[in-house]
Amino acid sequence: MNIVLKTDRELALMREAAVILKSVQARLKQEIPKGLSLLELDHIAESVIRDAGAEPSFKGYQGFPATLCTMINSEVVHGIPDDRIPQSGDLLCIDCGVLWKGFHADAAFSVIVGGDKTNPERATFSRVVREALQKGCQAAKIGNHIGDIGAAIEKHIVSHGYSICKEYTGHGLGRALHEDPHVYNYGIPGKGQRLLRGMVLAIEPIVTMGNPQVKTLTDNWTVVTVDGQDACQWEHCGVVTESSLEIFV
Ligand code: MG
Ligand code: MG
Repeated sequence: MNIVLKTDRELALMREAAVILKSVQARLKQEIPKGLSLLELDHIAESVIRDAGAEPSFKGYQGFPATLCTMINSEVVHGIPDDRIPQSGDLLCIDCGVLWKGFHADAAFSVIVGGDKTNPERATFSRVVREALQKGCQAAKIGNHIGDIGAAIEKHIVSHGYSICKEYTGHGLGRALHEDPHVYNYGIPGKGQRLLRGMVLAIEPIVTMGNPQVKTLTDNWTVVTVDGQDACQWEHCGVVTESSLEIFV
């Protein structure tokens, strides 16, 4: 385990990276209702990032070809934006990273295309995953443990009858997009790495509506549920404090 604690100066740069990522998310939320393709959304996101003088974290990362990871319905993670247009009632998850002055921001959100009323079941699913993320962030206090975060997320998800996809975890981040420690979305309170001052974490519950078993498609990136039911992801990154995660984005 090689945990890199951040100085105040480094944290300030990471907050700046997060401001850029927030502007990407805000722009995407404006554009999604216009009926653009995933690829068009990707190009817009890349423009926003580059216009701010930053770089997309994901593009080229281990060969990933795009700025965004876009996941519709049964897609779990690492979806490559293509010419599909998300349809009313679809559950669309968008994950994005920004590299600014040597530091990464990483965050994901989900929306029901056309609004929550177009698919209340999916809207509830997305809301519960977001709530689980919030509970995980509340547990991310200095002196707590990684297991406290995971236990808080898992309890909320399981109590609603959904499943944690255990193949994927949150992570530390900083100069690298993925740093130690792993931030599991399940765990035992009081167990695992202790949370330290200066520790920046990306917390990202990845949840399935049904069976959590997943498989990778032949593009070698897109991960989907085996049972074809929906998956959902929300992600914040921030620094642990005495009270909770200070959410950067
Ligand atoms: Mg992410
Ligand atoms: Mg992440």
